[in-house]
Amino acid sequence: MDKKVNEILARALSGQQPTEAEAVYLLGFPEYSPEATYTRGVGNDVARARTGNTALIFGQIGLELYPCEADCQFCSFGETHTGFSERITLDEETIREKVRAFTKDGDLYVLWLMTMNSFDLDYFSNAVRIAREVAPPQTQIYTNIGDTDYDTFVKLKQAGADGVYHVVRLGEGSYTKIPVERRLKTRADAVKAGLALQDCLEPIGPEHRAEELVERMFKTQADGIDTAGVMKRTAVPGTIFTTSITNLRMAQITAVNALVMIPSDPYPWIPIHEAEPLGLVSGGNSICAETGVNPRDTATDTSTSRGLDVSACRKMLWEAGFTHLAMGDGTRIALTAEYIAERDAADDAEATTAGEAASSTAASA
Ligand code: SF4
Repeated sequence: MDKKVNEILARALSGQQPTEAEAVYLLGFPEYSPEATYTRGVGNDVARARTGNTALIFGQIGLELYPCEADCQFCSFGETHTGFSERITLDEETIREKVRAFTKDGDLYVLWLMTMNSFDLDYFSNAVRIAREVAPPQTQIYTNIGDTDYDTFVKLKQAGADGVYHVVRLGEGSYTKIPVERRLKTRADAVKAGLALQDCLEPIGPEHRAEELVERMFKTQADGIDTAGVMKRTAVPGTIFTTSITNLRMAQITAVNALVMIPSDPYPWIPIHEAEPLGLVSGGNSICAETGVNPRDTATDTSTSRGLDVSACRKMLWEAGFTHLAMGDGTRIALTAEYIAERDAADDAEATTAGEAASSTAASA
């Protein structure tokens, strides 16, 4: 074991943040090395100790799809490479049903509503209103939309939004047609309008150097953002990207991110994306259920493809050893095998009732 790694991690276990140079040093080891294994273990211990071994479930509904003029090279909707030719806009009834399906058990922390770079404000505000009406009060509603301005965020807050997911992506302005300054202005306008802000280090590819990743981690920590996620880039068929980092490398990055967050109080949540077990034992503690369109998928409804449902998220978090789930209002519930079985039984009973109702309608017709 490298002596310097031992020293950095011993200090982290006693509550001391690594320096930027030390965080870069930790990321310099191959993900399969003993040094990376130890880093992942310490990242896991630090994050669990600071959060009471608590996890979160997020949910995202992709509301709309069209070939998108922002043309992000990593996204399946970018107009120059997308395989989608149709336009999809979920109607009110579908939005209502998808929100209900994700939030009916009351254990979703945040529901994100996602649309493309440009969007119709009346349509999107109405979707936020529906989500706020259908979801229980302990689930927060966040937007995941293109760049916009202060007045728009004021309207979305009035419609029921609590916060925004808005990130300066790695390669912003070169892999995308969006200048960094525009993303920063949108983030500032959202905060000015009274909305919470979530951050994420994304989308990470094999070409991203440790220095760049670490600089972003320290920026997120210094900004005091309460969500410091990590997401690897998916090599979506049709995009220019054909390679990805491994889940083990992503878990190593997640662990270093968890150590960089040590001075933050409260300690931020650390979502990992896409959901997978290695990151959840390396400092990650939040994963996302997904339905509707998805920029990392080529299916028009990701719940039939890459997207996990809420039940699968609960099980993955429990398998990773988390003992509590936090709600968007700060309350916590015990995450146990019995709780998961009860929720699944309720879902099965509801599906059976819906199936019987559909058969009886068909028989009467
Ligand atoms: S990531 Fe968002 S803004 Fe970029 S192409 Fe995809 S939908 Fe458009």
